[in-house]
Amino acid sequence: MALMTGEQYVESIRKMNMQIYMFGEKIDSSVDNPILRPSLNSVKATYDLAQLPEYADLMTVKSSLTGEIINRFSHIHQSTEDLVKKVKMQRLLGQKTASCFQRCVGLDAANSVYSTTFEIDKTYGTKYYENFLNYLRYIQEMDLTVDGAMTDPKGDRSLAPSKQADKDLYLRVVERRADGVVVRGAKAHQTGICNSHEVIVMPTISMGPEDKDYAISFALPVDTEGILMIIGRQSCDTRKLEGSQIDVGNSEFGGVEALLVFDDVFVPNDRIFLNGETDFSGMLVERFAGYHRQSYGGCKVGVGDVLIGAAALIADYNGAQKASHVKDKLIEMTHLNETLYSCGIACSAEGNKTESGNYMVDLLLANVCKQNVTRFPYEIARLAEDLAGGLMVTAPSERDLRDPKIGKYVEKYLQGVKGVPVENRLKILRLIENLTLGAAAVGYRTESMHGAGSPQAQRIMISRQGNLSRKKELAKAIAKIK
Ligand code: SF4
Ligand code: FE
Repeated sequence: MALMTGEQYVESIRKMNMQIYMFGEKIDSSVDNPILRPSLNSVKATYDLAQLPEYADLMTVKSSLTGEIINRFSHIHQSTEDLVKKVKMQRLLGQKTASCFQRCVGLDAANSVYSTTFEIDKTYGTKYYENFLNYLRYIQEMDLTVDGAMTDPKGDRSLAPSKQADKDLYLRVVERRADGVVVRGAKAHQTGICNSHEVIVMPTISMGPEDKDYAISFALPVDTEGILMIIGRQSCDTRKLEGSQIDVGNSEFGGVEALLVFDDVFVPNDRIFLNGETDFSGMLVERFAGYHRQSYGGCKVGVGDVLIGAAALIADYNGAQKASHVKDKLIEMTHLNETLYSCGIACSAEGNKTESGNYMVDLLLANVCKQNVTRFPYEIARLAEDLAGGLMVTAPSERDLRDPKIGKYVEKYLQGVKGVPVENRLKILRLIENLTLGAAAVGYRTESMHGAGSPQAQRIMISRQGNLSRKKELAKAIAKIK
């Protein structure tokens, strides 16, 4: 099976035996849970769109490993064109789901582990690259969704992993056996973990020799014994239990994050991709961060397209669309959104071949991309709120709209321009609320800030990659300074 259908994907997740906890209760699976199901639907969209001929060029690709047609989400980038298509695919999915569709993390992890294991093996004569190739072939053949797990809880940020009071605050090896290792720890903010089949775990920072037990990378099925997920709360999450399609803003799609706990989990040798080579931890982190910072130049832009569309619609429904300041705000939102896209495309087009043969984004431009993402969606959201008006946060519920006694007042006093049903006006306001303050704001706002690394992490990379000394030389040459 090279490509699963969306339905096959859903059934494959249903069959898994994950340990998912939410509101202090164990959840059998994300498939039938009303709070989690929208997030599953977003991942399902990555399968559904891959079935459609009009998206075949973006969503599918010939595997460099098997020669089969596979989903682009499990592809190893073979060219800068592949990198560009990845960003375009992410924009498309952002447009179709208006949420985080979760599957990119595994793609970014796969490409980073692919090139890094190649270089570790070259230095140490290890077999990690071969392990990873076998693993990836399996992923591609089965068309599985893989999550990537990087962010450790980190405890006291001023202390190295091995210096923490609680040694498990960074995921670590607690036992070494002939057939593998046992790991303990956690990974935070795990996007889409309960909708994934597998997880690739990576270290979260550069490490010194004393952190050997923390320099560990591996992959496991997410229902492996000892792995459990504690789902994060989102703003307005329990609205999904109320059964109102209008009030949730985006009833079909969503994203989800969880705290992922590894409670003494066994990892067999053939699933290990880094084990103690602390000097390669930084490379793996930097590459993964680079790819994921590129990703945001696609996914957030697609969601931004939906938000801009919603802002333009509410202006129409309010009869404000001809006001010059309204037009100008929509232009500004578009300008900001397309600037993000330009960064995503630029860091892809300027990508380079790694020693392993796959393609890496331009790190400076990818970090500039993500640095802009920490700002522009906030401004786009601010302008959308401006255009939406206060009704976005004061509008009555769908139940009031439908109520036999008071519904007529809602209908009468929430009218906008003639011919637009009040229901439609409420739907768009709720969508803007969902994207700026509600459940999807996790993905569009705060994730824009902290996902793929907080702003300061990009500034460090920008300072490292910015090549100031060359710029000084340029200035000296022009000023005729010897
Ligand atoms: Fe993909 Fe964007 Fe979600 Fe990251 S935040 S997994 S890049 S959709
Ligand atoms: Fe993310």
